Amino acid sequence: MINIDSKTKLLGVIGYPIEHSYSPQIHNYISEKMGLNYIYTSMKVSPADLKAAIDGVKSLGFTGVNVTVPHKTEVIKHLDSVDDAALEYGSVNTVKVKNKKLIGYSTDALGYFKSLTDTGFDIKGKDVLIIGAGGAARPICIKLINKGAKSISVKNRTKENTIRLCDYVQKTCGFKINDTPILSRYDLVINTTPVGMYPNTEASPLDDFSFIDKDTLVSDLIYNPGETLFLKRAKNRGAKIINGLGMLIYQAMYSYEIFTDTKLDFSLYNEIVENVFKETV
Ligand code: NAP
Repeated sequence: MINIDSKTKLLGVIGYPIEHSYSPQIHNYISEKMGLNYIYTSMKVSPADLKAAIDGVKSLGFTGVNVTVPHKTEVIKHLDSVDDAALEYGSVNTVKVKNKKLIGYSTDALGYFKSLTDTGFDIKGKDVLIIGAGGAARPICIKLINKGAKSISVKNRTKENTIRLCDYVQKTCGFKINDTPILSRYDLVINTTPVGMYPNTEASPLDDFSFIDKDTLVSDLIYNPGETLFLKRAKNRGAKIINGLGMLIYQAMYSYEIFTDTKLDFSLYNEIVENVFKETV
């Protein structure tokens, strides 16, 4: 149990809605394991209240906050500076107060990439299909490009949003994404839509799995359920699969390192899975 006293430092996550967030459980678990005097809570902040909330982070003496949907882009204009990666992604999920200045970082793509490389997958020279073109797809695309992906194709419901993603990536990294699936096979297929997430577990963002084989890595950002219909059907084709739990936990661990200026032992990952997500995934 964390003992809260007058020296306890404040952390939290702001989002709208926020009730689904596991960040408090993950961060408080890490603080307890590290023996650090921090407390982390969740705060429901509507878009209209974002500026006031961010100003409050500084004036109330918070060490930092995570920022989640729908604020990851909008928050940037309220910060004093943003690190290079977050600037490139146009997305901030971690805000740290340093010398009374608000500094933005992004650990989502870092977390995703760590969960990917944990499987032994090497992105260099690989063909990628991304399903979805929203806030999560953008940093992941850019990270995969920066790490050497050969091609990226997007399959998304709304063409306009696909084009927005393609244009953004072309402008920031000079890489041309295919705005429709054009290859007959992909090395990596990623679902970045919420389709298949609890309670709608009978839905899949993909109908045709014929292009997926035993050499495809299939990844879903969803972690509840641990095995979505999308992952189940890919597994039936012999594909290797990963869910979104790795991304969720690793992005939190990277944020924790930024907040507390500590280095975490990443063997803590399995402990977090065991103790925080025992009954979920
Ligand atoms: P977002 O910005 O709202 O984008 C959602 C994307 O999914 C859009 O491209 C949207 O298509 C598509 N989509 C939504 N509902 C759909 C439907 N019924 N059928 C087809 N396409 C649909 O959301 P986001 O922030 O990118 O998050 C996407 C997912 O990733 C969520 O499930 C979120 O929980 C998950 N996520 C997980 C982690 C993690 O740590 N594991 C981190 C971030 C996000 P349109 O363009 O047509 O609207």
